[in-house]
Amino acid sequence: MSFKSIAIDGPAGAGKSTLARKLAEKLGYIYVDTGAIYRTVALKVLWEKADPADPAQVVPLLEGLEIHMGYEDGVQKMYLEGEDVSGAIRRHKVSGAASQVSAIPEVRSFLLEFQRRLARESSVVMDGRDIGTVVLPDADVKIFLTAAPEARARRRLLELEQRGEAADYEAILHDIRERDYQDEHRPIAPLKQAADALLLDTTDLDLGQSMSCLLSLVKEKIGP
Ligand code: C5P
Repeated sequence: MSFKSIAIDGPAGAGKSTLARKLAEKLGYIYVDTGAIYRTVALKVLWEKADPADPAQVVPLLEGLEIHMGYEDGVQKMYLEGEDVSGAIRRHKVSGAASQVSAIPEVRSFLLEFQRRLARESSVVMDGRDIGTVVLPDADVKIFLTAAPEARARRRLLELEQRGEAADYEAILHDIRERDYQDEHRPIAPLKQAADALLLDTTDLDLGQSMSCLLSLVKEKIGP
């Protein structure tokens, strides 16, 4: 049996995870949020009070790292050393640390096989930064999902407010720009559109509109 794979890459806050999750649900595929995996590695680094920017401190932690992924009612859960850390990895501090650890080549190669195995075992919609370029270069559909930094910052602000977390638009915009810069300029697996990826810019689209565009792009490629 051959499985299908859909790669969705793009910067933080472009709506990747919401759209990818809904798409997976519609198609009956597994949704894999690869950012959550990097965030879990970052959380371990923070637990150990190590510096996420320092490979000499991060790389030794990879050995024996106990990360598991599971699904509860279709929602991806991350476990670190047996503990459900799905909420903890969303914290603001973990976002920056994830971006830092993800620039370390050993971290990326450690997670590469983990991600590829998931796509060998089921049909997946996988979202991240380098899925179409590095992790699944033969994906059946590749989408590069983006939006202007200001639009992404407004969405993030709303999301944080809805979760009852204090947030400031300017600070969020600053963080988004910083993370974009880090993700786009790292020497290994930088964030970039794969040559054969379809571009979807959601700056002026709401969620419903983005979803219908995404669905029609996907259907054009893999059929209804
Ligand atoms: O998507 P999310 O914001 O949760 O990802 C957290 C960080 O993990 C990103 O800023 C990025 O640096 C890194 N990441 C990555 N490659 C992926 C997914 C995420 O480098 N495939």
